[in-house]
Amino acid sequence: MAYRNTPKLAFPLKEMQNVADDFRQRNVYDKKYWGIHLGVDIAAPAETEVFSAGRGVVVYSKLHPGEFSPDGKIIKRNWGGIIIIAHKNLKEKKIFYSLYGHLGKRYVKKGGGVEIGELIGKIGKSMTESNGIWEDEHLHFAIYDGPYHAKVLPGYYNEEEKNTNLKFWQDPFDFIKKYNSRHVQL
Ligand SMILES: [Zn+2]
Repeated sequence: MAYRNTPKLAFPLKEMQNVADDFRQRNVYDKKYWGIHLGVDIAAPAETEVFSAGRGVVVYSKLHPGEFSPDGKIIKRNWGGIIIIAHKNLKEKKIFYSLYGHLGKRYVKKGGGVEIGELIGKIGKSMTESNGIWEDEHLHFAIYDGPYHAKVLPGYYNEEEKNTNLKFWQDPFDFIKKYNSRHVQL
């Protein structure tokens, strides 16, 4: 795959004030312990536009629907629409990934190139399969800089399953700030 350098990074929503300070918080929902949250949740209504955080290549774009039983009970919550974009660090030539979850619409496909600030999708409507069946309409946004195996990445670190390595998950705000301060002269 031809990776693409990104000269800088930007936040994925135009309005960023409704960000939960929940990176690496322990998360309980439905009285179930989900694990340590690997990104931030940004509250925004359905149909809010979501933009690529940087120039890059789409490596994953799929629907992981939640599951209702025939009588309408929630069997499984999930990602809904999810997009993962690979970016190349201009200075270090290292690849890192931005991840966008709970999308009702996705406008990009695996293998496609995207520019920074390009419209890639829209937030999903609450309690639908395309938002993964969650009450709160929001974007899950994460930055991952570990090895990638063309599979969907988790939203939580589960200590028992050891489903990922915590050290590869970066605080998205710190990461973007540091990235831009180091690349601003280029
Ligand atoms: Zn989340």
